[in-house]
Amino acid sequence: MSKIIAITNQKGGVGKTTTAINLAASLASLDQTVLLIDLDPQGNATMGSGLDKAELYYSTCDVILDQVALVDAIVDGLPCGYALAPTNGDLTAAEVELTTLTNREYRLRNAILDIRDHYDYILIDTPPSLNMLTLNALVAAEAVIVPMQCEYFALEGLSALMTTIEGVRSTLNPSLKIEGLLRTMFDGRNNLANDVSAQLDEHFGSLVYHAFIPRNVRLAEAPSYGLPVMYYDKGSRGAKAYLALAQEVLAQKLQRSSKPEPPAIVLQEDLPIENPSEETVAAGAAPQVADDGVLIFQLKQNKT
Ligand code: ATP
Ligand code: MG
Repeated sequence: MSKIIAITNQKGGVGKTTTAINLAASLASLDQTVLLIDLDPQGNATMGSGLDKAELYYSTCDVILDQVALVDAIVDGLPCGYALAPTNGDLTAAEVELTTLTNREYRLRNAILDIRDHYDYILIDTPPSLNMLTLNALVAAEAVIVPMQCEYFALEGLSALMTTIEGVRSTLNPSLKIEGLLRTMFDGRNNLANDVSAQLDEHFGSLVYHAFIPRNVRLAEAPSYGLPVMYYDKGSRGAKAYLALAQEVLAQKLQRSSKPEPPAIVLQEDLPIENPSEETVAAGAAPQVADDGVLIFQLKQNKT
C-alpha cells in the first residue's frame, strides 16, 4: 500500500515544488516506486520533472473532473526516475468547476483508490493557498510534509496551516497527520534563521526533520533542465540534503511498519501458585519474550 504524502504550505515560494521533485527522485534512487501528482495549476512540478506542460495529453485537471482515470494520466519512463501525473493551467478552471460538483473534496482520494497498490510513495505537490485543490490533497493524503523557510512570518503561517489540518482531521480525513516540518533554503550564517529554527525545535520537537535543505543555487538551476538536482549535479549540497531527507522519510515508514502489535500477555502456569494476586504478578521477575513475541510473566509465590 502506498504512503500518500501531501507537500503543503499555503505560503508561496517556500520550496514545496523543489521538495516534491527532489524527494520523489531521491526516494526513487533508494529503490522506492514513486508517483508525483502535480496538483498546482502553475505546473512547476511537471516542468521540473522534464515534461512540457503545454503538450500534455491528459492532466490532473481531467482526473479531478472525473473525465479520465488517474492511471491514464500518469506518464512513466521520464529521466527523473519517478512516475508523474502532470498538470497545467487548465487545473485553475477545474478548481472553479469543482465547487459546484458533488463529492468535491474527495475527487483525488477516489481517483487514487485504483492505483494505491502500485507505488511505495505517492507525493502530491499543492498550490500556495488553502483552496479546493489543496483540500483534495489533504483528504487524499495520510501525511503532510510542510516545507518552510526559517523567517519571521513563517511561524504565523504555520499556525494557520495547523488549524486547517486539524479541521480536515476532525471532519473529512481523521487519519491525516503531520509527517514533518522541513526547513528549506536554510542559511546557517543568518541569525534570524537560527532563531526561528530553534523556535521550531522548541515548539514542534520531533516533528522537525533532522535533515534541512540549504540555500543552494544548483537546486534553483535544475528545474530549467527538467531534472531533479541529483541528475543535474549529484555532488551538490542540495542533492545531498534531499537524499538525507529521503532516508529520514523512509526510516519513518520502516519504523512504523516494523512496530510490533502490543504483545499478548500470558501467565506461565508451571509454578505452584496459590491465590495469585495482581501484586504477585507485579513483583515477579522481568517478563521473558518468547520466540513468537509473546511476553511471559513468571509468577513468584506469595511468601506471606
Ligand atoms: P509556489 O508556492 O509558487 O508553488 P513553492 O513553494 O513550490 O512555490 P519552489 O517553487 O520550490 O517553491 O521554490 C521557489 C523558488 O526558490 C524557485 O525558484 C526555486 O528554484 C527556488 N528554491 C527552492 N529551494 C531552494 C533552495 N534550497 N536553494 C535555492 N533556491 C531554492
Ligand atoms: Mg510550487
